[in-house]
Amino acid sequence: MKILKFGGSSVAHPESIERVTQIINSYLSSGEKFGVVVSALGGLTDVLEQMGSMAELGNDGYKPLIDVFFQRHTAIIQQLIPEEKQAKVTKEIDKRTKELTNILQGVYLIKELTPRTKDYLLSFGERCSAFLLSKVLWYQGVNASMLDAREVLRADNTFGKGKIKVKESYQLIQEYFKETDELKVITGFIASTARGETITLGRGGSDYTASLFGAALGCSVIEIWTDVAGVMTADPNKVKKALPVKHLSYQEALEMSHFGAKVIYPATVIPAMEKNIPLYIKSTFAPEEVGTVVSEHAEPDEHPIKGISSISDVSLIMIQGGALVGAVASHTYRLFRVLANYQVNIILITQGSSEHNICFAVKPEDVDTAKKAIEEEFSLEIQSRYIDPLIIEPEISILAVIGDNMKHRPGISARLFQSLGKNGVNVAVTSQGSSERNISVAINRKDEVKALNAVHEAFFLSDTYSVNLYIVGVGLIGGTLLSQIRENAGFLHKNQHLEINVVGLANSKRMVFDEEGIVLENWREHLNESESKMDIRKFVAKMKELNLRNSIFVDNTAAPEITEFYEEILDASISISTPNKFAPSGLFRSYQDLKYLAYERGVKFMYETNVGAGLPVITTISDLVSSGDRILKIQGVLSGSLSYIFNTFQRGEASFSDIVLEAQQKGFTEPDPREDLCGSDVARKLTILARESGVALERENIRIDPILSPNCIEAQSVEAFFEELKKEDERFEQMRESLTSEGKALRYIATLAGDQAFLSLAEVGTESDFYHLSGSDNMIVFTTERYKERPLVIKGPGAGAEVTAAGVLAEIIRIAYHLS
Ligand code: ADP
Ligand code: ASP
Ligand code: MG
Repeated sequence: MKILKFGGSSVAHPESIERVTQIINSYLSSGEKFGVVVSALGGLTDVLEQMGSMAELGNDGYKPLIDVFFQRHTAIIQQLIPEEKQAKVTKEIDKRTKELTNILQGVYLIKELTPRTKDYLLSFGERCSAFLLSKVLWYQGVNASMLDAREVLRADNTFGKGKIKVKESYQLIQEYFKETDELKVITGFIASTARGETITLGRGGSDYTASLFGAALGCSVIEIWTDVAGVMTADPNKVKKALPVKHLSYQEALEMSHFGAKVIYPATVIPAMEKNIPLYIKSTFAPEEVGTVVSEHAEPDEHPIKGISSISDVSLIMIQGGALVGAVASHTYRLFRVLANYQVNIILITQGSSEHNICFAVKPEDVDTAKKAIEEEFSLEIQSRYIDPLIIEPEISILAVIGDNMKHRPGISARLFQSLGKNGVNVAVTSQGSSERNISVAINRKDEVKALNAVHEAFFLSDTYSVNLYIVGVGLIGGTLLSQIRENAGFLHKNQHLEINVVGLANSKRMVFDEEGIVLENWREHLNESESKMDIRKFVAKMKELNLRNSIFVDNTAAPEITEFYEEILDASISISTPNKFAPSGLFRSYQDLKYLAYERGVKFMYETNVGAGLPVITTISDLVSSGDRILKIQGVLSGSLSYIFNTFQRGEASFSDIVLEAQQKGFTEPDPREDLCGSDVARKLTILARESGVALERENIRIDPILSPNCIEAQSVEAFFEELKKEDERFEQMRESLTSEGKALRYIATLAGDQAFLSLAEVGTESDFYHLSGSDNMIVFTTERYKERPLVIKGPGAGAEVTAAGVLAEIIRIAYHLS
């Protein structure tokens, strides 16, 4: 014999009930004997509960809900019962609805809803659904009838969560089934006390009913039919990438359900386990899928854990003080005795090995009772300050990783804590059961979904890894970066197992967010159609609110005001990748603070494209320094714009001012070319190089040899500047001619020697590597302890959207590896 249990979502609507009857009919045709347990129509127990609470408060808003209750049932009658029989079946539902109305009227009048009355009220859901399903089957020609479980399930009188008297109930069930050949449609969730009062088994308790019947009748299998194809590696509502689990041991199923996997009601496992009956979890909506089998020995799979569960809403209570130390457990005993006396359910306990404190987690509704109980029990110790006032932390979630295979397997805690740490999730308390089947951590509730996803990825999706990007600035570099992300998505997925999700996007006018990932084919339309005005403060607030794992902020602007938010961003455990030079070349102190903050939060603050665009300059310095080399000198041509100007000028085909104008018009320089020609951009780059090499350089300490005359520098507008520059053409031309005759060229060279830094317009001959640069090439020459005789040279195009964007993309991938 088998037991088939259909949950609320499987009987929510006429269409779903039809699916259920199809499943039942296919079992019937196979000739198998079985019983059916059924829950209330999906959502109706909530409605009943709501009506009760409203009536209790004297709120007559419960009245329209009675119609909802009635109509949900009659909708089924109208669709699934033959027309000529509908009146008869409706009459029964009508009768029950009237009774329900009377009870609610009573509650409304006396403004009191006792646990006992509440249980009676809630029982209407299952009593009506079982009745209806039995009638639908009956009129389909099945010899079916309803069994009100109150006839055979006996419980104590803990209303709200009745404790089943197992022996007595099993006997009653066995006797009942001896005498019946009909297909029984049994009410889930309800039982009766010794005095014949109605009692419920706790919300979600229909699964338990099924297990009790299965065990009493010695069934071969208990099938829990629900709306998901089995137990998943995590709650699919919170972790979109959750995977089905094929096999769980009873113990694993217990842990998963105890720690919040709603798909199985925790008590369900016990009767099945005692009789060694396998539990199958299957989906009514996909009956062909195998689902999950819960049995004594679960086959291990390739993952070290089976699943991750979470309990969303708990409070931590911490009791500490000298009185607890070395008290040979007497205080611990008193603590838990008094909590038990007050019926406070404890979800998790930890005690520090110093014995100085004990911390435990309870549901928020138990906090006041627990506090009162402890303060009463330890009043003397608290008065004499041997025990400190209780510390209560609300809004905590508990996350648990679960699996039999964790036993004797090192590295699991490390993986768990690493993924939490890298995502800035603070762990308040941790506990590992001695069974080594469960490691639990108490975390801030606002971090729960992020933590679940990060931990899930760390344990189950090691072959694919996703990062969430927030991109500000979609001009030349940002736009190119977006194209590169889109074009390389397939490659990155296949070869790097990396999935890049662009969650936020902004230009100077608008911003747009999509947690699922903005479709990159038409990101420009998404952005242009967005109603949200760009406001960097709001952008940052939104990133923090979304609180997604593996987040990276990409600043493609050259705006100083964006960098003012770097501290807040890093503090929220969001990494930064940027070609924006302002922060790394700002005050040394702020640069250092940002680096330290990133380190503390376990994230990255990277800006490789600040110098030499896509050329690997900063990583090279960092590799040299971290492997023990010492940088003696750095010399470089660091400005693509200046290289372009001087290389073109060298050819002698146009005047200096014309070349600068042309470079400006082609976008090779800043809109005001003086930014380049005065060396401020190069000075920023040299500052960064110095700092990466370990020199605490401030920009103002760089000596800059001017290229331009004071008149040019002081000109009021860009136009006025060009006018002044024309006047210098001759000076430049003379310089060029004399250099050409000497076989030399002009190069704007940045030098760091020891802690001395300067920029100068140098005349270099053919013997110098700098002489041979062309186009917008950059070249950086490192003289180090290791590269003393023959310096290390990095050379290549140092500007351009393609190479810069590719540099940013490479950095994003590097950060992703760090986070994984
Ligand atoms: P029923 O009405 O059939 O009893 P429930 O709503 O009680 O169904 O349980 C099924 C739901 O449990 C799923 O729809 C899912 O949202 C939730 N759930 C939570 N954790 C898990 C998990 N680890 N695996 C599967 N489902 C889960
Ligand atoms: N109908 C009850 C509830 O919603 C029992 C169950 O569905 O298992 O809690
Ligand atoms: Mg359920």
